[in-house]
Amino acid sequence: MEELISLAARMLSGSNVTTVSTGAGISKESGIPTFRGSDGIWKSKNPKELASLEGFLSNPELVWKWYMQRLFTAREKDPNPAHLALVDLEGMIPHLTVITQNVDNLHRRAGSRKVVELHGNIEHFRCLECAHTADFDPEWDDRPPRCPECGSYIRPDIVWFGEQLPRTELEYAFDISSRSDTFLIIGTSGTVQPAAQLPIMARRNGARLIEINVTESAFTGQVDISLQGKAGEILPLIVNEIRAENSS
Ligand code: NAD
Ligand code: ZN
Repeated sequence: MEELISLAARMLSGSNVTTVSTGAGISKESGIPTFRGSDGIWKSKNPKELASLEGFLSNPELVWKWYMQRLFTAREKDPNPAHLALVDLEGMIPHLTVITQNVDNLHRRAGSRKVVELHGNIEHFRCLECAHTADFDPEWDDRPPRCPECGSYIRPDIVWFGEQLPRTELEYAFDISSRSDTFLIIGTSGTVQPAAQLPIMARRNGARLIEINVTESAFTGQVDISLQGKAGEILPLIVNEIRAENSS
């Protein structure tokens, strides 16, 4: 393992354009459950009921309460050593972008500056019908509020099942991935499209791939370096190694 960590550190420190793709696994050590693991959210909830437009339309209060709960949970939790190590890494190598499938806002709260949120952010809301957008308002209660402009429901600005990803973010993600020398995949099962295409496309364009995950994922067979373990333990080791290299 030590050798693989050194190898990953050298790959990253020599990289001009680096993309990091993160999934629910990076926030697990902050205490936010993943969707698909053994204690994942989908083991106890039905995704179609809670994270789809149909679900929201048929039971707005249930879906609203679930998102309020997720928002408060995310706010209670802190970024963990993996989020913080990515902030350090951004300051140590030339051009690093974090592309995340997470909505928990922890990369921004940790201090990462270049963050592309492919599935939205739990702090942001928008009208179901018109272009009105809103940040969380502490006056809101257990029922979805109404849009001040058109009277329709306010919904979470999160990509639900069956919905398109935000176009600007998606285009940027594909562009920067295709120009990357190194692509680091952290804590994602690789089952959600189109996010799962990014490393594959990066590799096709010559990037080398590094993965950090506690188990094998859809990517494991295709990466150059597979680091099996917790992101909050492995990433700080990589960053320390680069720091030591730089100061010697
Ligand atoms: P996923 O639940 O499908 O997979 C999580 C992955 O993380 C698994 O491969 C697991 O082995 C790995 N993992 C678990 N603990 C880890 C750790 N400590 N270190 C490294 N890896 C670890 O998650 P996904 O691939 O991100 O699925 C995507 C969907 O889940 C997205 O739509 C995303 O919006 C949503 N989601 C987001 C959050 C969040 O914002 N924190 C939480 C749950 C789900
Ligand atoms: Zn409206």
